[in-house]
Amino acid sequence: MRIFRSYLEKIAEINNLDIAASDKGNGKWMFHHGMLFLSPYKWWQDRGVYKIDKRKTAHEGIDILFFKNKNKQIQKLNTDTLIPAATNGKIINICDDFLGQSIVVLHNSSSQEELDIIFVYAHILPESSMTIGTNLRQDEIIASIADTSKIKTPLPPHLHLSVIEIPKNTPVKHLNWNFFSNRENKINLINPLFI
Ligand SMILES: [Zn+2]
Repeated sequence: MRIFRSYLEKIAEINNLDIAASDKGNGKWMFHHGMLFLSPYKWWQDRGVYKIDKRKTAHEGIDILFFKNKNKQIQKLNTDTLIPAATNGKIINICDDFLGQSIVVLHNSSSQEELDIIFVYAHILPESSMTIGTNLRQDEIIASIADTSKIKTPLPPHLHLSVIEIPKNTPVKHLNWNFFSNRENKINLINPLFI
């Protein structure tokens, strides 16, 4: 929770969000059930009629979008929102996803010999300076949220974050959403709330 909570605080800080200062990252961010880790549900409506649809696969991470402002109104992140890195690391892949692009970052501090930990920042537009091989410092700005208005989707722009353990020998070209969503693969999805 320590990394995730401070990550939310950092998003609020660098974007000057109108979020209550006393509670940054602590109850001011709002998550529908379908936005949470391993939720089977969608939090958007595909058919314009209220109905809780199921996702094709359980949610591989957490979706970050809604927060309460100082007047207790619900606000959304928008496509100007800058996305920082949650930890130090190195970009090992950049791939497309269904709303934008994803940056795959190898986290430095995996304690297990056989496994690496990667952070996947999805539905974003990477900064032009961010390429495969770029070393990142925690809090460095890596992207903004991808604009979804030009593609046919009922999903508002938002940040998806996944944290995944993968075998050390996994070829980096495999590190994309076909791989992350395939439960046959030997990967271990980690709940970002508990990092
Ligand atoms: Zn998501």
